[in-house]
Amino acid sequence: MSLQRLLVANRGEIAVRIIRACRALGIESVVAVSEVDRDSLPARLADRSVCIGPSRAAASYLNSDALLATALGAGCDAVHPGYGFLAENPDFGAACERNGLVFVGPRPETVKTMGNKLTAREIAEQAGVPVVPGSSSVATFGDAAAVVEAIGYPVLLKAAAGGGGRGIRIVHAPDELRGTFQSAAAEAEAAFGDGTLYAERFIADGRHIEVQVFGDQQGNVIHLGERDCSLQRRYQKIVEEAPATLVPDALRQEIRDSAVALAAGIGYTNAGTVEFIYDQQRREFHFLEMNTRIQVEHPVTEEITGIDLVQLQLRVAGGEPLGIEQSDVRFTGHAIECRITAEQPSAGFRPSPGLITRWDPPEGPGVRLDTHCFSGYRVPPFYDSLLAKLITSGDDRTQAIERMQTALESFSVEGVDTGITFLAGLMAHPDYRRGHVNTRWVEEQSGALQSL
Ligand code: ADP
Ligand code: ADP
Ligand code: MG
Repeated sequence: MSLQRLLVANRGEIAVRIIRACRALGIESVVAVSEVDRDSLPARLADRSVCIGPSRAAASYLNSDALLATALGAGCDAVHPGYGFLAENPDFGAACERNGLVFVGPRPETVKTMGNKLTAREIAEQAGVPVVPGSSSVATFGDAAAVVEAIGYPVLLKAAAGGGGRGIRIVHAPDELRGTFQSAAAEAEAAFGDGTLYAERFIADGRHIEVQVFGDQQGNVIHLGERDCSLQRRYQKIVEEAPATLVPDALRQEIRDSAVALAAGIGYTNAGTVEFIYDQQRREFHFLEMNTRIQVEHPVTEEITGIDLVQLQLRVAGGEPLGIEQSDVRFTGHAIECRITAEQPSAGFRPSPGLITRWDPPEGPGVRLDTHCFSGYRVPPFYDSLLAKLITSGDDRTQAIERMQTALESFSVEGVDTGITFLAGLMAHPDYRRGHVNTRWVEEQSGALQSL
């Protein structure tokens, strides 16, 4: 079976990305939009757009009944959830299937199992993949105190149902534990409807390395290499690159093999990402979590493999086999992605919605821009502040960095504040150029860089 007509259940740059992939494969696209997004680029590009409700996400992009009714009413046979919103909501995937719609992603049971980070940790352990030293759930403050005693300070308290950098709290010393435990549990309950917490050793000099995996319905599972996403703020990614730099080849292979073992062990289908933290002091890597969806930073993998991941998602969801074996995957050159957001770095990265009066993006060899923005577009205040993903590629890391720097310097946006100058400062930094960074590095540099 191949897909005929697909509902795009998302907005912004990823909606544009999915619509273009549909067009390339001859699949009709229908996009569900909120009121404020009626004239958005996805609405203009799709074969059809349907307004499904008010601008607040809860009334539109998170309204699974409205999305399902739209898909069925428009005669769709499939739904692509993108990332964020309902992408990792197993009830949405299951409801699609009950209504005879193909959900472009793994099976709902897989989404559910891996959506709980504690269950995911157990599955990783069963697959022989090392996890961060830590605990199973800590139900009470007393449990937490005992567990932390065993792991040693500092520790992270993490919400089992957390995501998007939310639900993670650091505890430096025993006197902070009670307060942090109580507020973290209450916050997790309020944000995710599940207050379950667990504890992990805080890896102070760690790099975030994640592996792109892909499975088909015939039982084949491969990896498409790894990405380094160590440049983060508040546990959220800012810059990503592929391949990871300064990792010994044997270790790189071990990380890739671990990701495939984990995915194959659960009969994983479609695109997924297995996230690890690489402890640079101990030279050990540990499983963090698995994301059961297309990832924001998937373009860097596309650039070094030449494989269109969203098209592959659609083909696999339609029942086609992957069509490539592990040994067919070739890695060429280096790619970097910068997330361009409507935020003001000098004001603590405060969101900066509003009218874009000038949008003059860079062009040139090795430059790619994934975006839904244009001159005259009004950035709404209701959603994520991502405006665009700027991706550069080159023969090697140095060339990719230089192209990124030039591209950022010639990227002219007026009307809203952006992180462009901040990102250019990161690219120019000698530590970044040498690859001497970890997941705390951006925050440690922020004072100096924010004033740029
Ligand atoms: P990626 O690695 O693809 O960047 P993120 O974890 O940053 O993944 O999440 C991608 C998107 O999904 C972001 O817009 C993020 O805000 C959102 N997101 C992910 N998980 C959650 C969650 N549990 N609750 C709310 N938003 C989430
Ligand atoms: P989310 O679901 O929010 O993406 P993750 O478990 O992937 O949560 O963690 C997000 C980020 O937090 C990681 O990329 C890493 O930078 C940091 N982090 C998570 N666990 C640890 C740890 N045990 N030690 C140090 N940093 C961590
Ligand atoms: Mg993560």
